[in-house]
Amino acid sequence: MKTEIITIGDELLIGQTIDTNSAWIGSELSMAGFDVMKKTSIHDIRTDILNALSEAEGRSNVVIITGGLGPTSDDITKPALCDFFGTRLVINPEVLAMITEMMKRRNFPMNLNNRRQAEVPESCRVLTNAAGTAPGMWFERNGTIFISLPGVPSEMKYLMITHVLPELKQRFRSQAIIHRNIMTYGVPEALLAEKLEGFEAELPVGIKLAYLPSSGVIKLRLTGTGRDAVSVAKLVETRVRLLYSTIPDLIYGEEGETLEMAVGRLLREKGKTLGTAESCTGGNLARLITGIPGSSDYFVGSVVSYANHIKSKLLGVDDKLIENFGAVSEPVVIAMAEGARTVLSADYTIATSGIAGPDGGTEHKPVGTLWTAVSSASGTKAEMHTFGSDRLTNINRFSNVALNILRKQIIKD
Ligand code: ATP
Ligand code: MG
Repeated sequence: MKTEIITIGDELLIGQTIDTNSAWIGSELSMAGFDVMKKTSIHDIRTDILNALSEAEGRSNVVIITGGLGPTSDDITKPALCDFFGTRLVINPEVLAMITEMMKRRNFPMNLNNRRQAEVPESCRVLTNAAGTAPGMWFERNGTIFISLPGVPSEMKYLMITHVLPELKQRFRSQAIIHRNIMTYGVPEALLAEKLEGFEAELPVGIKLAYLPSSGVIKLRLTGTGRDAVSVAKLVETRVRLLYSTIPDLIYGEEGETLEMAVGRLLREKGKTLGTAESCTGGNLARLITGIPGSSDYFVGSVVSYANHIKSKLLGVDDKLIENFGAVSEPVVIAMAEGARTVLSADYTIATSGIAGPDGGTEHKPVGTLWTAVSSASGTKAEMHTFGSDRLTNINRFSNVALNILRKQIIKD
């Protein structure tokens, strides 16, 4: 069953309002097992609306439209729908009664604009909107269903949930659809895709793989579709197992698990504690770690040692190391991690020292350079990584690198 989405409103095109409606509708339709083929955003211009509707007719089984149903002069979806379906606006008595009642409850007088909201194209079926004033409208022509909904996200969602989705599910026996998300970290997308070439080539019909990267974490989403939910689930599960055996070192969790969640889970399992010594991440590691409920069970604290004299004064890093090697160096980051283990009395510490940018790089230590170390009873290990020049992106990436070396160390210990 093919569906498409048309969102109407000048504000969507000029970036004043982000089109969250189509993202939400797309996700709901897809989770219900319907194919979402296209989404279009257009101006509040009559001919543009008419063109979008004619293009969609015949191409899709269901077209969901949002926006432009309000009582103001820029809201022209209703007259455009009348043109398109060759019908006229008439007052719908139930909608009028609802609006009158609502205005009375709020102590506002009814005006002409409110009456206009009760007008609907004569040929549509009205979807009553208990979440607002503009009703939804359902049209059918030449095998295509057109559903027009208000632009206000809460009203659109109300109508989708109470009227549209249940009716579509009943009309079109939807396919079973199962998503599984496998979280990976450690190699860039292009390299991961190379490692998974064989895996992808052997995916059976009905199973798709998507790469969703963010700050070095790549979520692999496996989607299975088919007639029967039980056999789709089985098929997806076999592929998940195969994924685990293909890239065992790169998978750290499933669904939405973040690296800080994975680290927290491991620390809890092993009954160990953690502290951080942060220069370039400026407390971001501590923030990520403490964003997890219950982190007080394993997180003891952080020394945000941004200035060199704090590195030496609070963490006991030898001034000479900083002088000889620079703050962004292997010996300094190792000394930071070890110093923090003493000062914070933690089983594990991670330290970061790097150049977040956009300035401050040198030929040997360009912007984006990170030294990070993990220290535990089994020793201290450091790694160097180099990223780009955007400061906030770097801070996020630096944090993930540090969390991942910590994660690997906890597993190894
Ligand atoms: P109402 O009946 O309440 O007037 P409407 O159908 O006229 O609703 P609009 O006037 O187009 O809707 O938009 C109402 C509000 O919803 C505005 O704040 C607008 O920015 C927001 N909105 C409209 N379309 C979208 C969309 N696609 N995604 C997110 N927000 C949207
Ligand atoms: Mg609008």
